[in-house]
Amino acid sequence: MAPIITIDGPSGSGKGTIASRLAGILGWRCLDSGALYRLLGYAAGQAGISLDNADELARLALDMRIEFRDGQVLLDGEDVTLAIRSEQAGNAASKVAALPEVRAALLAWQRACAVEPGLVADGRDMGSVVFPGADVKIFLDASAEERAQRRYKQLIEKGLSANLQSLVAEIRERDDRDRNRSVAPLMAPEGALIVDSTALSIDEVLERVLDRVYQ
Ligand code: C5P
Repeated sequence: MAPIITIDGPSGSGKGTIASRLAGILGWRCLDSGALYRLLGYAAGQAGISLDNADELARLALDMRIEFRDGQVLLDGEDVTLAIRSEQAGNAASKVAALPEVRAALLAWQRACAVEPGLVADGRDMGSVVFPGADVKIFLDASAEERAQRRYKQLIEKGLSANLQSLVAEIRERDDRDRNRSVAPLMAPEGALIVDSTALSIDEVLERVLDRVYQ
């Protein structure tokens, strides 16, 4: 089995940035599992499937042709990189992600990403459900206000519109849903290094993560 590092945490905690920096340093593959749920939320909207129709969503999850290529995300050949990054797509993702049938349908695809020389996987349940036997587990957290600020900056930089106050509210709502759902609730997996990044720079977080990786 290829070595695996999992990085879990709430929306905007910096796990995506840390995961891709770490994967770059190690020369490993990187799995952005949140993108899968975002893709499904987006695809459901396109197909007119309701976000609580578990059976149809699970079928759609199995049928989606997903490609991650040079920083681009393709869904059935269509470039949806920007479309899946909106807060609306994030909220749709968090709704479909609360359905056990959907999570089960996406499990095999995620596990198939664990190939040599290694995988850095980021999400909510990487260390607890998808890769419980991971070699290193990290849990990244930060205050809701700080996470909203970061998301705001990202969206503006990407040329998307954003409103800070509604971002804080949306992040809190999404946190509640992710933490309180019955299946794979967001929490630090056992044995994880917990890093609160509220007052830390990306480099400082990366340093702590690398210390654990090379321990
Ligand atoms: O990480 P990101 O914000 O892109 O994830 C979007 C949503 O997908 C999250 O709010 C969460 O509900 C869901 N998700 C999940 N399990 C994962 C990754 C993401 O439930 N492993």
